[in-house]
Amino acid sequence: MIYLDYQATTPLAPEARDAMLRWLDGPEGTGFGNPHSSHKLGRQAAAAIEAARDKVASLFPPGGKVIFTGSATEALNLAIRGSGNKGSVSYSAIEHSAVGDTADAAGKSHVLNVSKEGQCNTAQDMPNDVRMVAVMQVNNEIGTIQPTIDWHRKAKEAGALFLVDAVQAYGKITVTQADMIAISAHKFHGPKGVGALWVRDGVELNEVQTGGGQEHNLRSGTLSPALIAGMGAAAALAKERMEEDAAHTLALWNRAREMFDGWVLNGSEDARWQGNLNIRKDGLDVARLMSECRDIMFSAGSACASGSGRPSHVLKAIGLSDKQAKSSIRLGFGRYTTIDEIETAANAINKAAKEQEQWG
Ligand code: PLP
Repeated sequence: MIYLDYQATTPLAPEARDAMLRWLDGPEGTGFGNPHSSHKLGRQAAAAIEAARDKVASLFPPGGKVIFTGSATEALNLAIRGSGNKGSVSYSAIEHSAVGDTADAAGKSHVLNVSKEGQCNTAQDMPNDVRMVAVMQVNNEIGTIQPTIDWHRKAKEAGALFLVDAVQAYGKITVTQADMIAISAHKFHGPKGVGALWVRDGVELNEVQTGGGQEHNLRSGTLSPALIAGMGAAAALAKERMEEDAAHTLALWNRAREMFDGWVLNGSEDARWQGNLNIRKDGLDVARLMSECRDIMFSAGSACASGSGRPSHVLKAIGLSDKQAKSSIRLGFGRYTTIDEIETAANAINKAAKEQEQWG
């Protein structure tokens, strides 16, 4: 099996797994304490959460707080719904549905265009009543890096909050400046079921989920020490290895680009995270390709859209026809991928694609 679906999820780092075990078992079964209890077991679990919070915070800009959530989707809901509904939310056409659908459901919304390369540039109008701008840092389907520094400035000029979905950026590149930033542990070699919203000091938010008042009254619900400890360890590791991981990913990208000669790249050649290769071949039957290469874990479009049978909204937004979008595949790789795996996968995919061309 060769795993090339790093945008859907990443393999759990052994270091993150080790950090979690203490809070599942613990010495003589003492790892299960409720971090909100005031006795010793509870305080130990709470201390582990605070240590992890510091590690997660160290990859964010200074001057804000980390609110743990159950996922990035939950963090984005808290940011969009918790910041009120007076005015419009402007979001880029290639946002994840956790932003787009939430902004549409929460009140007035407006879509910002992207170029053929998938760049959302700031030379476009926003509604006069804009209250929030949401532009992701790295796109999950085509890997483009957005000009978030410019959008931050433009949002401030318009008197709006700036929200960044940094799910595919955190732990890989320096996280941008913003008012709120959402992340998810399983995208940087941490466990599934835990995310966070970073909130700049001074930004007013209301709770979306009522209950015990945990996380500064913003996210009620008992925190999971094991998941959060795993997220903290994954963040610390990502920080330590950021340059090494990026250099390794670039080497994988260069080899993949050579091997997938004759395919068309979707997205930008330069403004991108190199761990994402979204390519197409006219007339390709992707479902058939995937069944012929079933030992290679890759994706048709995005993991979310691929089950639906609908062409991806991201590929449509960059101007691809339905047919072109449906003949696209996404390969995602990174820290634990080897050059050998890229070569083996590329040979198998190219062989299967060529047979389709030859024999129909
Ligand atoms: N935003 C982006 C860019 C994503 O890639 C994903 C997951 O695929 C999400 C948000 C949602 O993250 P989570 O799985 O933590 O809800």
